[in-house]
Amino acid sequence: MPDLTTKRSLEPQWREAAAAISDSRSILVISHIAPDGDAVGSLLGMAGALRNAGKEVTAVIDGGAPKDLRFIPRSDTVLAAIAEVEFDLMISLDSSDIERIGVAGAYGLAHSKRVINLDHHPTNTRYGDIHLIVPEAVAATEIVFDFLNHLGSAITSDIAYALLTGLITDTQGFRISATKGRTLEIAQSLMACGAPLALIMAQTLNRRPYEEIELWKRVLPRVRLDNGLISADIRQADVESVGLQTPADGGLVSHLVNVDRALISVVFKETAEGSIEVSLRAKPGFNVADVAFALGGGGHTLASGCTIAGSLAQVKDRVLPLLNQAIAEGTPAFE
Ligand code: 5GP
Ligand code: MN
Repeated sequence: MPDLTTKRSLEPQWREAAAAISDSRSILVISHIAPDGDAVGSLLGMAGALRNAGKEVTAVIDGGAPKDLRFIPRSDTVLAAIAEVEFDLMISLDSSDIERIGVAGAYGLAHSKRVINLDHHPTNTRYGDIHLIVPEAVAATEIVFDFLNHLGSAITSDIAYALLTGLITDTQGFRISATKGRTLEIAQSLMACGAPLALIMAQTLNRRPYEEIELWKRVLPRVRLDNGLISADIRQADVESVGLQTPADGGLVSHLVNVDRALISVVFKETAEGSIEVSLRAKPGFNVADVAFALGGGGHTLASGCTIAGSLAQVKDRVLPLLNQAIAEGTPAFE
């Protein structure tokens, strides 16, 4: 049997977090706004284990679990907003800064006696009291898996389902370069606990709304590729005309970085609020986390993002030079 036990270096934090849970009765679990499979998966995995341990659990993400992730068992337990109560403990998952945790997170920070910050983003700002931050983890659900093993919590089939969802979506089906042998061992272990790999793939990576094709038809004619930097913009008028419900479009920016002559990809998306969401991806050997962090956002070396106030033209003028610089500073890991 491979070694699936927790990493020794985090022992003191694991112990402190375990003690904080054991001392708490009411626990708030939250994750980031614009939630993805890892946000909802890590939240539901943690919430499920805490409920099985007899804790009074409130799970909240601003707006609730998005429609396309409601296939995950127990996603109906994710509340869209918080009731006015106090908590013994808040556990924040997959969220690198306090803007990311939204209204629910801000409320929780002010109304919880202690805060555990569990995350895998290298740009994490280390808010909260106890930090379970593992940048090497491919998904927050990998850290939850380790932590539940540390606690000796049973991984039920519902918990395994939620955790495997995060592993699959954050690694794009075990394709990103951070995927390790151990990632596959954890996936195997979760499947042995009852998580349906093929079904999760079918519900996530292998399912796109037709409206997205209509959106891409409008957006692709404006794609530009200059010196390894490939860029596109999504205008509010495009989104409105195709009637796309889920605004996130990690799909396009990830697709663009796979272009053979591209080193970094960027998609600028206008929001209804008049700001621009910037999504960044890099080929191994380049770093877009530092660029996103410098612009007030965050993420991973190869996948990051930020939201900037201003018009499309203003935001492009600010971001594109930084990306050209990131290209100049990197060297492709694979030729
Ligand atoms: P995406 O491009 O798929 O929206 O996001 C890619 C990565 O960047 C994710 O790891 C996500 O957490 C991070 N990210 C995207 N937007 C923001 C942001 O506004 N703030 C922070 N801190 N991280 C972001
Ligand atoms: Mn994640």
